[in-house]
Amino acid sequence: MDSRPEFYKAARKHWLAYGLYALLALAGLLTSIWATWLNVSSAWAVDGLSSAHDASSPTSIPSLPVYAPAQSETSLSRQANIYTVFPVRPRVDVVRYTVQTGDSVFGIAGEFNLKPETLLMGNYSVLNDNPHLLRPGQELNILPLDGAYYEWKDGDRISMVANRFHVEVQDIVDWVGNDLDPVNPQIDPGTWITIPDGTRALTLWLIPTIARGSAGVGGALGPGGCYGDYSGGAVGTGGFIWPSSSHEIVGNNYWSGHLAIDIAVGIGEAVWASDTGVVVFSGWSYGGYGNVVMIDHGNGWLTLYAHLNGVAVGCGQNVYRGQTIAWGGSTGNSSGPHLHFETRSGGGFVNPMYVLP
Ligand SMILES: [Zn+2]
Repeated sequence: MDSRPEFYKAARKHWLAYGLYALLALAGLLTSIWATWLNVSSAWAVDGLSSAHDASSPTSIPSLPVYAPAQSETSLSRQANIYTVFPVRPRVDVVRYTVQTGDSVFGIAGEFNLKPETLLMGNYSVLNDNPHLLRPGQELNILPLDGAYYEWKDGDRISMVANRFHVEVQDIVDWVGNDLDPVNPQIDPGTWITIPDGTRALTLWLIPTIARGSAGVGGALGPGGCYGDYSGGAVGTGGFIWPSSSHEIVGNNYWSGHLAIDIAVGIGEAVWASDTGVVVFSGWSYGGYGNVVMIDHGNGWLTLYAHLNGVAVGCGQNVYRGQTIAWGGSTGNSSGPHLHFETRSGGGFVNPMYVLP
């Protein structure tokens, strides 16, 4: 390592110390000369450094403070800081971000220290509450803090909007980024307003849960819908395995706008039944899931596999844990190959990470 900067600092410190020392000596000398010139004391030492004042000085002369040479270690310890320190202020403005290849709503939100829901609520016109509609090149609004972003409409009142997003009027008025007059807040229609901590229900883009006994309803969900009554088929073990050799989450993890995990499964890679059960949907679905397999495990649990390149099983078929049921792909609303995997229980959604080994 090069120690030269340290050496120079030390050298400069010493020179400064000597400089101060010389200045003080000169000051002492001048004081002495001045005193001598005034002829109030002929007895003062001329060297100025032996500052202790002479015992033979007249008592009418006020005594000068005792001169103590500066200690370089203590008097000159402060060094110049070559770096300018900028105060860190929180961002208040909405900034724009261009989506890159490989981005996810979940990932971008994390980059900006925001919840993924905030990204959806700030970009309804682009994403339509659907994280799978994210595409490279899209321009997104990045709010300065978690909350909602709202375009003011004709006839809106702040109390109405606050109520709609579950916040107080003051939360909207006080937010500096909104630049409102606190005494008489006026918002023109068309103005975009940040609503700190504002929330609203997200539109969820889901395939409804299909029970094996009522698979007939699946027909409305796409050509992959099943029509039979498959009561009495194979029943799950109650224990799930990963549906692929990959255990890597790519893009979206589980959150309120994405009730699934996206697993890094390439096009054509095998997708396995996570547990034993009956196929209640197999094939193309409407609504952005692409090719889908849904398995009813007969014990209250159901698993769903989406964006598949192709399916290997048909309606009503018994499938067994670990059996290949499909191949990975990027069909439907998908920005790249991955397996969208859901685990549902009693009609509700469970984070697959809670049930996978
Ligand atoms: Zn997904």
